[in-house]
Amino acid sequence: MRYITANIGDNLLIGHDAGRTVVQSMCNCDTNDLDAAVQQCLGLYEAGSQLVRLTTQGLREVESLGKIKTRLRAMGVPVPLVADVHFSSEVAIAAAAVADKVRINPGNFAKDHEVACSQFRRFLEECRRHGTAVRIGINHGSLGSRITELYGNTPKGMQEAMSEWVQMCIDEDFYNVVLSLKASNVPVMTQAYILLQQWMEERGIIFPLHLGVTEAGNGDMGRIKSAAGLATLLSRGIGDTVRVSLTEPPVNEIFPARLIAEFFDTARRPSDYQTGVKDGVPSFELRCGSHEEFIVKASCILGPMLVNKEADDFEIRCIYGDKEADKSEIEQFKSDIMQATRRRITQCEYIACPSCGRTLYDIESTFNEVKRRTSHLRGLTIAVMGCIVNGPGEMADADYGYIGEGRGKVSIYRGREAVVRSVPQEKAIDVLLEIIEKDGRSTDALPRRG
Ligand code: SF4
Repeated sequence: MRYITANIGDNLLIGHDAGRTVVQSMCNCDTNDLDAAVQQCLGLYEAGSQLVRLTTQGLREVESLGKIKTRLRAMGVPVPLVADVHFSSEVAIAAAAVADKVRINPGNFAKDHEVACSQFRRFLEECRRHGTAVRIGINHGSLGSRITELYGNTPKGMQEAMSEWVQMCIDEDFYNVVLSLKASNVPVMTQAYILLQQWMEERGIIFPLHLGVTEAGNGDMGRIKSAAGLATLLSRGIGDTVRVSLTEPPVNEIFPARLIAEFFDTARRPSDYQTGVKDGVPSFELRCGSHEEFIVKASCILGPMLVNKEADDFEIRCIYGDKEADKSEIEQFKSDIMQATRRRITQCEYIACPSCGRTLYDIESTFNEVKRRTSHLRGLTIAVMGCIVNGPGEMADADYGYIGEGRGKVSIYRGREAVVRSVPQEKAIDVLLEIIEKDGRSTDALPRRG
């Protein structure tokens, strides 16, 4: 088996030779606001982010990224910077000369597959010339019709879409590559990575994998979904770098990401926390310093068992110092992880992007308000997305979507269809609720408090 290690910037390795899981995050400010971007990069680096990604939608942002890098290096901050490019191959090619790594989905380079292939080859040549690493990132919901017509919008489709580009890297003798197949649905995401790992093993070559549950939301559920998904893969030895995507200030992503990475980099394993099995139900006990540590570590232990359907139920206790977590905290965690792993749906499901430089409204407070007013809609999936460019594709299998258009306007989606466009933001949640009501998908229950 040949194991590939990607080399990013002056001294960051991702993959087999790195010997540990790399933690990373992404700025959500405007990349052209140099002061804000430098401050976010610095904050993330100081919190433990080993790699920082920035939205790079155009050539102006490529130039800004270069300036941000220069300013960080002058401050003695060596953290490698990743350009996040979505559609334009010309922007990706320009970014290859500036960034330490460029994240692209080559399938989005052009509608015509042959054109996308030739642009991808040009891009790899430019990366080779500058020693720039590449992340090929394919998300559930952003597959082209060429793939979905053959495989559907499925984990298999995600793996097939990725395999074509990986094979092209091999054919071009370009190996400074990391791969990701993210989804907001935990079982879909884990299955896609497992299929990709199997495909690589069959070919005798293992590329490093970047793991993430995309659009995981915020609060406890965002952390639990991320930890359950990442742990399911890391516990199988799959994955080399992680991002916990939260609809919160980016720095909040680092603590849970480090907990997850360290959980699998150290010798302790879920069995170390198990205290027994009664009537086929395993029980666990943890000692934690905070609620956040509890939900993340407990998800690292229980996520794989639930996703792999090795257990249908569990008992868990958590001790904080000399005090035991109360029953309501444990019950809420049980409900959340059952929902996150899609084993028992008892809540409204949310998809919310972490936001980035493309977000032109206050997504954090909007998402909390949407949750407050829709939490009674058990069984529905509602997406809150930052931008109209990628939001509709990335909300994947949501039933309804609230998608920022910019300039105070919002589009409301039902599935893949925009039902109302350009709603003023102040009225958008009311309009969303009216559509759900008219569709007969509302319930009589009251929204959950808080
Ligand atoms: S959907 Fe959200 S994270 Fe994705 S590009 Fe748009 S604003 Fe950025």
